Amino acid sequence: EKDGASLASAACSSSVPQFRDSEWNDNVGYFIKKKLRVWCRLLDGQWQSGQIQSTLGEEASVLLSDGSVVTVSTGELLPANPEILEGVDDLTQLSYLNEPSVLHNLHQRHSRDIIYSKAGPVLIAINPFKAVQLYGNDFVTAYRQKLLDSPHVYAVADAAYTEMMADERNQSIIISGESGAGKTETAKIAMQYLAALGGGSSGIECEVLQTSCILEAFGNAKTSRNDNSSRFGKYGERKSRPSRVVQLASGERSYHIFYQLCAGASSVLKDKLNLKTASEYNYLNQSACLAIHDVDDAEKFHVLMEAFKTIRISKEDQEHAFEMLAAVLWLGNISFKVVDTENHVEVVADEATLSAARLMGCNAQHLMVALSTKRIQAGKDNVAKKLTLQQAIATRDALAKFVYASLFDWLVEKINRSLAMGKQHTGRSITILDIYGFESFTKNSFEQFCINYANERLQQHFNRHLFKLEQEEYELDGIDWTKVEFEDNQECLNLFEKKPIGLISLLDEESNFPKATDMTFASKLKQHLNADPCFKGERGGAFSIRHYAGEVLYDTSGFLEKNRDPLHSDTLQLLSSCSSRLPQLFASSKLNQLQKTTNPSSQLGAFDSHKQSVGTKFKGQLFKLMQQLENSTPHFIRCIKPNSKQLPGAYERDLVLEQLRCCGVLEVVRISKSGYPTRMTHQEFTRRYGFLLSENNICLDPLSMSVAILQQFDVLPETYQVGYTKLYFRVGQIGALEAMRKQF
Ligand code: ATP
Ligand code: MG
Repeated sequence: EKDGASLASAACSSSVPQFRDSEWNDNVGYFIKKKLRVWCRLLDGQWQSGQIQSTLGEEASVLLSDGSVVTVSTGELLPANPEILEGVDDLTQLSYLNEPSVLHNLHQRHSRDIIYSKAGPVLIAINPFKAVQLYGNDFVTAYRQKLLDSPHVYAVADAAYTEMMADERNQSIIISGESGAGKTETAKIAMQYLAALGGGSSGIECEVLQTSCILEAFGNAKTSRNDNSSRFGKYGERKSRPSRVVQLASGERSYHIFYQLCAGASSVLKDKLNLKTASEYNYLNQSACLAIHDVDDAEKFHVLMEAFKTIRISKEDQEHAFEMLAAVLWLGNISFKVVDTENHVEVVADEATLSAARLMGCNAQHLMVALSTKRIQAGKDNVAKKLTLQQAIATRDALAKFVYASLFDWLVEKINRSLAMGKQHTGRSITILDIYGFESFTKNSFEQFCINYANERLQQHFNRHLFKLEQEEYELDGIDWTKVEFEDNQECLNLFEKKPIGLISLLDEESNFPKATDMTFASKLKQHLNADPCFKGERGGAFSIRHYAGEVLYDTSGFLEKNRDPLHSDTLQLLSSCSSRLPQLFASSKLNQLQKTTNPSSQLGAFDSHKQSVGTKFKGQLFKLMQQLENSTPHFIRCIKPNSKQLPGAYERDLVLEQLRCCGVLEVVRISKSGYPTRMTHQEFTRRYGFLLSENNICLDPLSMSVAILQQFDVLPETYQVGYTKLYFRVGQIGALEAMRKQF
């Protein structure tokens, strides 16, 4: 009986994400006595399972599963889960939630092609990098009729659909993960399920799926990490990487649509757009990668044209869109000649300039002036100042990026409008959000800063949702809720958002200051924020932020430049003067946007002084998104990339661990751990452990019998609570009871 008490504390000792816990050290003896499995960290940092044979002081001798015996410090040992928990569907069912246990469970499942698991309410999807037989009509039916209940995207989509119908509330499916983890595929699988529920005859299925084909052509590109990487999301700049239009690394491509257009356009269309082959455009040929293995761009173009037809994008609109694409390509070929010793330039009036001007419907002379000069206010006069080569190139590229980004937004708008017309209005919706996960590289810049900020917000949304779910269940079952504590990440969000001395405000302030540099920005941060517990100033213009997923070191170089909106008012003016419809539309929607956020009387000329920074704009979009999410019931899917080579079967533990940490799965586990993650109905509990009781107790009702069992075995009262229908255990308790059961 004495064991009961010590057991209870042994069971509480597993710890995530920390590896060490003093209580565990005190209970190593118990694991030796009972020959229980442990995890042992070897010199290479990898965990292997084994059994402790003996201990001497701080050292333990461990028999590993491969038969060898090693001597390690007891600090390198952690408890492993009992065998009945091998490969469970839901990580929170594990008695010990330490990192090697979580990793092992997912590895077990992955090796059996079980790519879906759960971590409490979160679905974990491990990219199989091969076709798996888990989809199609039979599976849809099985999940619809609840014949299958193993974790699956279909189950998540079904829950969203069912709840939308029952609660009349909007739903959102939030899919996150790093590049190549499978977010877009997962989103498509969820859409397939929802489309199938919509019923084949409605035509919605076809339309929804065609939509993803269009968005992929315009929004996806080949990167070194994913041949079909989404570089634009539903929410415009969420990835803050529009630079893909003008700048490519080797082995990467720009957006698929450019190559598809060049390869697949009819000769009539080619003539109209004065279109050449992809290799003749600077924006496409700089990376020495024009094709993707096994992908036929011309064929893809024809599929795209069909999709346009299905979704009712008119011939005229299509042609306008193609004109803009060709204009972007020709802009990239515009060249400059240096005219003086100060590196000032003029635009060369060649085929590129004339074609770009014609496609946008503007005067070629005006285009040349806009790309080589900048008007500035001098007293009462406007004077044109010549640009240097570097400034002119930046102006040209900013124009190309702006046109492409606006085209994408316009297309999304068209598609949404077309879909809305096609279906009857229920007023309810399911939003599928494919969002870039938390990033932490050796060098982190402004892009990571924005992405991680967004993820911090999403994490808060996630925590609060989880907190609410837990609270509801506890209260319903009559257990004491006050004993559960949750941590929030509000402090870190304050660091970003505080005014006037948060990270974003300080960045904007420095960006508006002409003499500021990245170094002055860094020292400003140190000066104002060093007392903040989530902030640390580092050497050489760097700083680090303590995020929920870990500390990230940011390098300020490039921050100011990237935060400034590169579009000049002259360029905007040029676009409004175009005779083509789209450039005009793009210019006026940008101006509208500005007027909403600044002084309503601000004129085009005042544009430069009222420009919204990239960071602030990002924050605004994020707030809009959060608002939309707050008004819906969220469902979470975390995609995991099991290896960096895009191979089926390979499982790199460190890579998986890093992602579990970054996408908040370990956070879920931690939150569950802080409450009572193990739940068993009184019936289940008495069925399994009832035989431990003495005879005179067994005719009690299940609740009283549960209590009797717990008392007889001295299970510490602080490690469980008794609800009306269930028992709620702190982490690890079931493992302890199982061990006790084995004794008998
Ligand atoms: P990015 O952030 O770069 O857009 P992503 O997370 O959207 O990346 P996907 O494009 O969805 O990644 O997936 C990358 C590749 O992984 C796919 O092209 C496909 O080959 C494979 N893949 C992902 N999910 C599955 C799945 N469920 N079954 C089979 N293959 C998959
Ligand atoms: Mg994607």
